[in-house]
Amino acid sequence: MTVKATLTAAFPEAWRIAEFLERDFADDGGVVALVEIDAESWQVDAYFPDGDPDEITGMVRNRLGTDAFGAFQGVQILPEADWVAESLAGLAPVAAGRFLIHGSHDRDALPAGRVRIAIDAGQAFGTGHHGSTAGCLAVLDRLFRCRRFINPLDLGTGSGVLAIALAKTLGTNVLASDIDPLAVRIAAENARRNTVGNRVRVIAAAGMDHAEIRARAPYDLIVANILAGPLMKLAPQIAAALAPGGTLVLSGLLPRQRQRVVAAYGVQGIRLARAHVHDGWAVLHLHRP
Ligand code: SAH
Repeated sequence: MTVKATLTAAFPEAWRIAEFLERDFADDGGVVALVEIDAESWQVDAYFPDGDPDEITGMVRNRLGTDAFGAFQGVQILPEADWVAESLAGLAPVAAGRFLIHGSHDRDALPAGRVRIAIDAGQAFGTGHHGSTAGCLAVLDRLFRCRRFINPLDLGTGSGVLAIALAKTLGTNVLASDIDPLAVRIAAENARRNTVGNRVRVIAAAGMDHAEIRARAPYDLIVANILAGPLMKLAPQIAAALAPGGTLVLSGLLPRQRQRVVAAYGVQGIRLARAHVHDGWAVLHLHRP
């Protein structure tokens, strides 16, 4: 019996709830989907195959009590077979710039002429369905039209989607990092599945705090799709690792947080080149003069 638990929360709590549910339950086959209802509220749907409704209710309530502020909408028992269709239905291929992100179930029915990235849902964050991921890919696509990069860093790689896009397009080695060891494992696996395993190196690190991240600096391109808070906190370290003339792409922030993030990087001598909004998410393109 598959049980679906639904929660609603404001941003960024919804993102955090989705992250910890994914972390806790992915090993048991859980699938977590994050859906934007409107600018202020988000819905988190967690699917548990072979779940016991009472147990799941208890677990989710427990987790919410200690870690996040969200409203638990209850659990629902799904008819067999339906839940797979339901969780995949939301995961139609997503096009962003030259990139097409798709699940392995869609591998055979894809249009030609795009850079394909296969990512399956229910793992780490980054299936391309989130506006910040798609927004980063769209901005990267534009950047790649007029510039080459040879030493990129993807900070907070999640599923590895952006690192894979970088490796496939640039043909260079890419360093990718995540604070979450599970994401590190999944990103490495996804890089291999996308035939760029030899070019994408994934390491576990909190922010820029890792010998290898320091050793490979300076970077001519740093991409970080994390949240506004960590982006501001990490501004000094990220800025220090960016080469003169280097490009920085930041997302995971809302348009109203833009000024504060830009200011944090301005203090470090990093200037805003362009700000984009994608599906309600701001994507900032900055550079070091
Ligand atoms: N890059 C992917 C994933 C973004 S989700 C995409 O664009 O879709 C953000 C990821 O950053 C998560 O996997 C989270 O674990 C990671 N993260 C959050 N804070 C971090 C930090 N301080 N250092 C490293 N990784 C971090």
